[in-house]
Amino acid sequence: MKENELAELNGKVALITGGAGVLGAGMARILGQYGVVVGIMDLTIEGAEAAVNIIKKDGGKAFAVKANVLNKEELEAVSNFIIDKHRRLDILINAAGGNMPGATIGPDQAIYDMQLPHLQKVLDLNIIGTMLPSQVFSEIFSKQKSGIIINISSASAQRPLSRVVGYSASKAAIDNFTKWMAVELASKYGDGIRVNAIAPGFFIGEQNRALLLTPEGNLTPRGEKIIEHTPMGRFGVPEDLDGALLFLCSNMSTFVTGIVLHVDGGFGATSI
Ligand code: NAD
Repeated sequence: MKENELAELNGKVALITGGAGVLGAGMARILGQYGVVVGIMDLTIEGAEAAVNIIKKDGGKAFAVKANVLNKEELEAVSNFIIDKHRRLDILINAAGGNMPGATIGPDQAIYDMQLPHLQKVLDLNIIGTMLPSQVFSEIFSKQKSGIIINISSASAQRPLSRVVGYSASKAAIDNFTKWMAVELASKYGDGIRVNAIAPGFFIGEQNRALLLTPEGNLTPRGEKIIEHTPMGRFGVPEDLDGALLFLCSNMSTFVTGIVLHVDGGFGATSI
């Protein structure tokens, strides 16, 4: 019999930015179940603690930290806290991100209505909000000569979705940065550091709920279009990311770096 490949996850230390969100908390839950000590980082300590409590109730180990992914000093304080308390960091998941209503081109609008401040916010959150934590926390990896970064891309990265111009562009940048950082870290610090991304298809979250579902829970016209374009005929649920995440975080993927793993029910595989 082969040894359980995932047993090595037990006792590892992870940090999830945006860990209080729908997908971040889902990824925290499965890592906690495999014995990973999970750091939940979010904008408020209350949000982070709520996610921590769910993991602890499940018998897992977790801790809450508050930091803005756009603030380098706050990220460095979290890095120092983790090293003081846990002596190491093994996994960074960059899950803080998303779209903002003001950066969306409405059905009765055109690109000329785009507001620069809103666009800037979306580009900053998704691009800088992934690059800055990667810079700060991978310094630990470079000293350890080991570590794993998982970025969160989107179905909109390679085939942009209508209306969400800044979001699509910023997720395309995430795919590019994932490859860039994979090359940077492996070539300078060795094969113990890997950088990959997961590109979820459509999962109901707080940010897109109103876009995809009516208050009664029925599909909006946009939600209908998406489901029609998804061969599996449904939205994803956070548990759908479990397998991809465990694969990329474990020794099952020791020679895998710089890839974007799509978890989208076939959305990206079909044209009509
Ligand atoms: P969510 O809104 O539920 O979670 C995002 C979390 O990030 C929130 O808890 C929020 O407080 C936190 N956050 C926002 N700005 C932050 C900042 N500056 N610093 C620290 N934390 C911050 O969203 P989600 O649906 O869980 O999405 C998580 C990631 O997955 C995002 O990058 C999103 O773009 C991506 N994604 C989501 C879907 C989907 O269908 N839900 C699909 C593809 C990709």
